[in-house]
Amino acid sequence: MEEARQPEGAQQREETQQPEEAQQPEEMDHARRLINSADRILILTGAGVSAESGVPTFRGSDGLWGKYRPEELATPEAFQADPRLVWEWYGVRRERVGACRPNAAHEAIARLTLEREGARLVTQNVDGLHELALEEAVSNGAYSRSSASGAAPIRLHGSLFGTRCTGCDYRTMDRHPVDVENEASLPRCGKCAALLRPDVVWFGEQLDPGILQSAVEAAETAEVCLVVGTSALVHPAASLPLLTRESGGVVVEVNTEPTPLTEVAVVSIRGPAGQILPHLLSVEPER
Ligand SMILES: [Zn+2]
Repeated sequence: MEEARQPEGAQQREETQQPEEAQQPEEMDHARRLINSADRILILTGAGVSAESGVPTFRGSDGLWGKYRPEELATPEAFQADPRLVWEWYGVRRERVGACRPNAAHEAIARLTLEREGARLVTQNVDGLHELALEEAVSNGAYSRSSASGAAPIRLHGSLFGTRCTGCDYRTMDRHPVDVENEASLPRCGKCAALLRPDVVWFGEQLDPGILQSAVEAAETAEVCLVVGTSALVHPAASLPLLTRESGGVVVEVNTEPTPLTEVAVVSIRGPAGQILPHLLSVEPER
């Protein structure tokens, strides 16, 4: 169901909205206290966390590819019918998304997951920006490689930069350009030589059960579920904050506009993630 998230696409047009932190000092304090006093935190992110990085949505009029809707190309049927076309589209997406940089929200989340052992990140995004922010935090020397492996995001919808074998399911990460000259030049599995496909969850496909289970466990054990930049309309991601609440935890929301989760959240903060999160996550635990 990659990109089956119309409301999040709408969020991406709100980059010019002004920060409203100053207008919500009590909410910010409340959310900070909850986050700082929790041992176990789940951060759930969606497209809104990447809006300030300029990640394109590939919807609407967009040159050559504007004539295709994601629902036409991000499907197993489309790949079976014309793997070259689908890989070409993903090649363009990799190139454009690969040029985007993590923003202050990705950086703040990376620091939190590196500093707090009980913090887990679950993302609906396939853009790889959380991973880049982690890599950069580690390469700056402030954190070790081993702490970075524990901070790796649980990717509900896979990654634009991941490949998966259509024969044996072998998965790899690869940021190199794909040769889409003809069908014979498409990437193939090093183990069984079958065609590789983008490792993203396509329309009509189920989420990986093991990945979903990890996310559910993180949600059920979290004292705080911090939901950032997602309208949380699409299940099963939408059910994760509800699982935290049913297990006795609380939901904190950061979004540019109200969502169905706002009613569920104990605190809801309005504004762009890149401006809110550095303030929200900057305080050390008070213990
Ligand atoms: Zn294979």
